[in-house]
Amino acid sequence: MLNISILGSTGSIGTQTLEIVDYYKDEINVVAITGNNNIDLLEEQIEKYNPKVCAVMNEDNYKLLKNRLNSKTKLLCGMEGLKEAASIDEADIVLTAISGMIGLEPTIEAIKNKKKIALANKETLVTGGSIIKKLANKYNVDILPVDSEHSAIFQCLQGYSYNDVKKILLTASGGPFFGKSTEYLENVSVDEALKHPNWSMGKKITVDSSTLMNKGLEMIEAYWLFDVTSRNIEVIIHPESIIHSAVEFKDTSIIAQMGLPDMKLPIQYALFYPERKENNLKSLNLFEIESLNFHKPDTSTFKCLDLAYKAISIGGTMPTVLNAANEIAVEKFLSKKIKFLDIGNYIETLMEQHSPFEVNSLEDILYVKKWTEKKFTELI
Ligand code: NDP
Ligand code: MG
Repeated sequence: MLNISILGSTGSIGTQTLEIVDYYKDEINVVAITGNNNIDLLEEQIEKYNPKVCAVMNEDNYKLLKNRLNSKTKLLCGMEGLKEAASIDEADIVLTAISGMIGLEPTIEAIKNKKKIALANKETLVTGGSIIKKLANKYNVDILPVDSEHSAIFQCLQGYSYNDVKKILLTASGGPFFGKSTEYLENVSVDEALKHPNWSMGKKITVDSSTLMNKGLEMIEAYWLFDVTSRNIEVIIHPESIIHSAVEFKDTSIIAQMGLPDMKLPIQYALFYPERKENNLKSLNLFEIESLNFHKPDTSTFKCLDLAYKAISIGGTMPTVLNAANEIAVEKFLSKKIKFLDIGNYIETLMEQHSPFEVNSLEDILYVKKWTEKKFTELI
């Protein structure tokens, strides 16, 4: 029996993970879940899965749920609650599917308690990559990627070492605004940005896909996961989202991983790695797809991708500024306080204002997050 703690069980990745739990119900047992606002769903999940603990980040929501609940599940609150859910004795694996860098601290806690990590929460590696890597080595913990591109790369690398790799081909759908001009993007609405052509995901990552920041964050995620320099990670727009990414080896052979766009496959692969298991997912029919297309990204229109390359090449605290500024900008765009193109502009300005330094601790990252929040308020 695989005992799993799901951080962010109410979200898009969290609920798809629970669909996998339902399918393999004799093999996976849920021991912890967490959420923030969606306490109705948390209540349903508690009733259905009977976890040992459930953590609610928001204190008011915690109190509301506490009043409603009549179960053996221990209810926890706030960051301390998330950390406890991430490090609970019973868990063999922690699936990190919280949205944003708020997921960093519980992930660190899980690693320190020697939990295997199934990592969906890319912002954790973007901001805390150096710390996470050191800790994972120290505690001998596997970090198994859930992000579809990184799962693809990880699958392509099975049987090879990082020394065999020439470059990583990181594919991107291009999002809803692929091929559009700056003039067009000037006045695009939130609803338009949320219409992703191939994937149904949480709002934050969907907006990130529309700005290409998602690919920028994923490039940094790949940098930390696969020991490659950012120069050896090439982003390729592939609108069909069938090739989930590929690896070119030093002999020029390229191995790609393909499948229909369905996050349940990479989630399942991470949970049962290295085992491949039969499932009820739809097979890819190449005759139905007919053709696969590839394009260079337009980084002058979609500046976020270049900003991510710049941030990782500068290193230190700069990727934290990139990420923290992006989280605030996306939230402000979603609440219609800033326009679509402002997202990249604000991130660029804050990166210019920041004097980066080496990341030595979690405190460094949290300090830079606060710095970014303060500077953002001054700008707006
Ligand atoms: P969602 O927005 O659908 O879900 C986010 C989850 O995090 C919810 O459970 C939510 O709780 C919780 N949450 C949000 N804010 C907080 C907070 N401040 N404190 C504690 N918990 C919080 O996101 P996704 O599932 O789409 O994405 C999750 C992560 O996985 C992201 O890092 C994303 O980049 C990554 N990812 C997602 C993919 C996808 O297909 N969705 C693909 C690849 C990576 P509640 O709902 O109760 O408020
Ligand atoms: Mg992805």
